[in-house]
Amino acid sequence: MIFFLPLGDIDLYYIDKVKTYVHEVYREEVIIMEKVPFSENCIDIERKQYNAVCVMDFLPDVEDGEIVGICDKDLYVDGLNFVFGIAENTGNKKCVVSIHRLKPSFYGENKENNLITLRTAKEVIHELGHLKGLGHCKNRKCVMHFSNSIYDTDFKDYKLCKSCKRRIFK
Ligand SMILES: [Zn+2]
Ligand SMILES: [Zn+2]
Repeated sequence: MIFFLPLGDIDLYYIDKVKTYVHEVYREEVIIMEKVPFSENCIDIERKQYNAVCVMDFLPDVEDGEIVGICDKDLYVDGLNFVFGIAENTGNKKCVVSIHRLKPSFYGENKENNLITLRTAKEVIHELGHLKGLGHCKNRKCVMHFSNSIYDTDFKDYKLCKSCKRRIFK
């Protein structure tokens, strides 16, 4: 089972659409939890960004499933200017994704609901892939390809390539 936890003000319209993509790829039940306030504990005042590991550590433990925290804050990890999301090490249960840099408005593009939905779905499916034991994939079309920028995210598909798929569905 996969749990989505909206952190702070997230448009549930997107989240519900993202759920459909995630269900299609992993064929698991997806449950949208009641949203919780986004904690300001993880802010780095100088960077004006939030430490992604810190945000992820705040997610509640779920039994029998994986949890995806979804927020609208600019996330970073040490050594990177920003991240779209991060996952705990392979075989664990928590990951976090931010829609902050997935929103077309961030790039001066027109607001387009389908685009943000698809981008968010790709990043959520990517992080869940890590939790399910997948590493980064060389296939640029595969959802497990590492996104250095929004162009990579837009280029790749929301689906797993054949070889990644084989690793999950044995
Ligand atoms: Zn990754
Ligand atoms: Zn792949």
